[in-house]
Amino acid sequence: MVHLATGDLLRAAASDETELGREAKRHMDAGELVPDHVVIGMIDRRLSEGASDAFLLDGFPRSVPQAEALDQMLDRLAAPLDVVIAIEVGRDELIARLLGRGRSDDTPETVENRLRVYVDQTEPLFDYYRERSLLRAVDGERGIDEVYGSVRAAVPHA
Ligand code: AMP
Repeated sequence: MVHLATGDLLRAAASDETELGREAKRHMDAGELVPDHVVIGMIDRRLSEGASDAFLLDGFPRSVPQAEALDQMLDRLAAPLDVVIAIEVGRDELIARLLGRGRSDDTPETVENRLRVYVDQTEPLFDYYRERSLLRAVDGERGIDEVYGSVRAAVPHA
């Protein structure tokens, strides 16, 4: 399966000295979402390149407008989503893991803001995908191997 992670794509863009890269980095360093049109454009280009039977979108969509745009892209490709996996981790464990990772956008202030943004903009996707019967929750508080096993079991044909 092709693994498309918007965070990885954005970090690669941010390391280029382009206006777009600088704009993305400002948002990432502040723990904000990069504007929808930027992220949607990135995924749209990747999906339109085609040549992949199956893909895993990691960290996308993160807002309802992104989910709506994804629906349109997948309609166009006649490639419906099989499943949406929510890896659930409680707030304290999440903060401990993020601060232990050593990424430059993992300062306490940025992490706090990311969690606020998550509640405001990303959590509504639970209802969005629950209504479409696509949502599977996985307990992410366990070890890597157990979480991997549950994710794999949730993916049809994997
Ligand atoms: P991640 O590697 O998934 O933790 O993403 C790192 C940062 O990239 C996030 O904190 C956001 O600033 C930005 N980002 C990643 N994915 C998205 C997305 N789908 N929409 C908006 N911003 C994103």
